[in-house]
Amino acid sequence: MNKLIIANFKMFKTPSECKTYAKNFIKLVKKSKNQIALCPSLVCVDAMSKALKTSRVICGAQNAANHVEGAYTGEVSASMLKDAGAKMVILGHSERRRYYGETDKLINEKLKLALDNKLLSVVCLADDGGPEYRENIKKQLKDLLRGVEDFDRVVIAFEPVWAIGTGKTMELQQIESVLSFVKKELKKKYSENVRVLYGGSVNSSNAESILKLNSVDGLLVGGASKDYKEFAKICNC
Ligand code: 13P
Repeated sequence: MNKLIIANFKMFKTPSECKTYAKNFIKLVKKSKNQIALCPSLVCVDAMSKALKTSRVICGAQNAANHVEGAYTGEVSASMLKDAGAKMVILGHSERRRYYGETDKLINEKLKLALDNKLLSVVCLADDGGPEYRENIKKQLKDLLRGVEDFDRVVIAFEPVWAIGTGKTMELQQIESVLSFVKKELKKKYSENVRVLYGGSVNSSNAESILKLNSVDGLLVGGASKDYKEFAKICNC
């Protein structure tokens, strides 16, 4: 099927837990036709990339700084992530927007630096699929993608906030409507090469039907990726 399936571990798992996860997980997804990424916390990126070295599964990060380098205590730059073995990064996740005040402008700065470092960049929209989603998404794409040129490395993720960690997923028809709208906008104004992902309470029971939707190029999985067997089932859809 060749979709992009990403595990966002959020703030779960230590470096040694990541190593064990990777070792067990890669055995189960050897035959998967999908592109798979595991995104542990920043401190685990080095250990995880090493543990994944012999497989096709790539390691990503959940955030990167909006500066090249400098006196920014606690921050981690895109070039540091790259050097530690990350091949991709998630930017502007709704939890970063909610708890750390990230704005579209800041995420756009991060995105440009991630692309300068040739990281596959998964940019999350902040929309819940409500009645105003078209106008909202149009504006967000404009702010998030301002000045971006390397669209081959950009991926857009749509995760309605109410569906994150709640066990509630959006109706299939509605996922298709929103994602097809995002794709049309991207094609019209930016590039037709940008993939679009769905996230929000995806698990091994609903993944297959979501992946079958025309406009869904992949999934961003939180809770259900914590267990390697459950996440492998999703990756093998
Ligand atoms: P859940 O899969 O736990 O709903 O989380 C989704 C998410 O936030 C992935 O980035």
